[in-house]
Amino acid sequence: MALLPSLTCIVVAARLDLLSAFRPPPLPPALSTHPSRRPTTSLDVFKGFGAAPPATSKKKEDPTAEHLDDDCPCFEGKLYKDCCRPLHKGVAQPADAEQLLRARFCAHAFKVPRYILTTTSIDSDTYKENQEKWERKTKEILDKAEFENLQIKNITDIDGDHTSIEFTYDVSGPNRKTETKKEKSYFVKSEGGRWMFLRSDKPKDLTADSRMKKRKVASGGLV
Ligand SMILES: [Zn+2]
Repeated sequence: MALLPSLTCIVVAARLDLLSAFRPPPLPPALSTHPSRRPTTSLDVFKGFGAAPPATSKKKEDPTAEHLDDDCPCFEGKLYKDCCRPLHKGVAQPADAEQLLRARFCAHAFKVPRYILTTTSIDSDTYKENQEKWERKTKEILDKAEFENLQIKNITDIDGDHTSIEFTYDVSGPNRKTETKKEKSYFVKSEGGRWMFLRSDKPKDLTADSRMKKRKVASGGLV
């Protein structure tokens, strides 16, 4: 008989069960108010955006490393490591405006915003004082589009220190629709002898399909 619970025990246990039904359940650890266990919100995720990467993530510092043996998207017919990468790494300088345009286009294709910043003339309308914000915004634009099929159409030496280049390329946005753009860019040789991007005329959309024209799929042109 001693093994059977007494009626009193059963009643007490039942009352406790009843009370527990009204007791709020314990908070899961993630919702605890302890600062270290504060839940991660979407805003917290973005707080890290643009911050210095951890010391261990060396790969992140060189987004071009994965493309070493790829064909260079500047359409020069060489591997990236033997073509535009030395320019992107700063160990070589473009010999002329055409090489700079190719390297800047390649920087669009392989998402190297830093190179676009460092080869933009301080006299350019697109030059920004706040380099960190400029690089972040440029990266956002590059990440949203794919740039391919660069074709150089015409190169004009204006006065020895200024060159204009007409070219076409394909750009596709997140919906994968592709537009063919025609653009004319102007380059200047700086005092140090380095070629820099100065400005571009507004690019023309050569895409034949009029439905695509109504719905712009990508940026207004190269940045
Ligand atoms: Zn190249």
